[in-house]
Parts: sequence; C-alpha cells; structure tokens
Amino acid sequence: MNKSQLDQRLAGNLQLCAEKYPELESRYGKGIAIYKDGNVESVGRDSRETCYYTVAGPAPTGKPLVWYTVEINEKTQVYTCSCPDWQMKHAPEIGIARFCKHIVAAKLEAKHGQYGLLEALIETGDVPAAEGQHAF
Ligand SMILES: [Zn+2]
Repeated sequence: MNKSQLDQRLAGNLQLCAEKYPELESRYGKGIAIYKDGNVESVGRDSRETCYYTVAGPAPTGKPLVWYTVEINEKTQVYTCSCPDWQMKHAPEIGIARFCKHIVAAKLEAKHGQYGLLEALIETGDVPAAEGQHAF
C-alpha cells in the first residue's frame, strides 16, 4: 500500500467512524495524526498475547512529547492506556472497550498484523466474539 492509498484508507475509516461513533471521531482523527507522525512504537508481546505499545502526542507547540503505554489483548478484548483521558474514563466506551487516541494510533500501527475489536467496530459495527472465535 503506497502513501496515497494509505491516506485514502485512513480518511475512509475516519468517515466510517464519524458516521457510526460520532463520540469517537475527534480521538480517531488524533490517533491517525499520531500514527502518521510515527509516534507509536510496538514494544512487545507477552505470553498471554497482550501487545504493548508506547504512544505519544500530539504535543502542544514547544512542549516535549509525553509517552503513554497502551496494552491490547485481542483474545480477551482488553484495551488499556496509561493516559489521563483513559484513566479518568473520559475516553468513549464503544462496544466493550474504551478508546483514547493512543489506542487508536496503536491499533493503526498493528493493523496489518492484527485485525481486532476496533477494526470490526469501525468497519462492520459489530462486536466480534472474544477468545479466538473471530471469523476473519
Ligand atoms: Zn491514551
């Protein structure tokens, strides 16, 4: 996928998100920006299939980036982030998980390797079954 195809796909996903989950739109847009800025890094996966990411930004002009830890387990559909938005429960809950912009960015980074809950919600509007019962 080249850059313009990727841009088109991300714009399409943002549009779908806006239609289905308007409460998530601004965070989805910011997650795309973080992903495009390259401020998301996969840092590993443990034996229980939890994937770890460090994600930053976007920072206000002149301020250093603040990095947060995102944990995603598609098997148990547990998504967490260490940022205040997620921890204070301001990030919207959709389906069975809460999504901040860092989680969106981490999922975009993981997209090619791991299709999961957020992608299913955005693309089909369905909550897939947990524990490896995914049909995709
Ligand atoms: Zn976050």
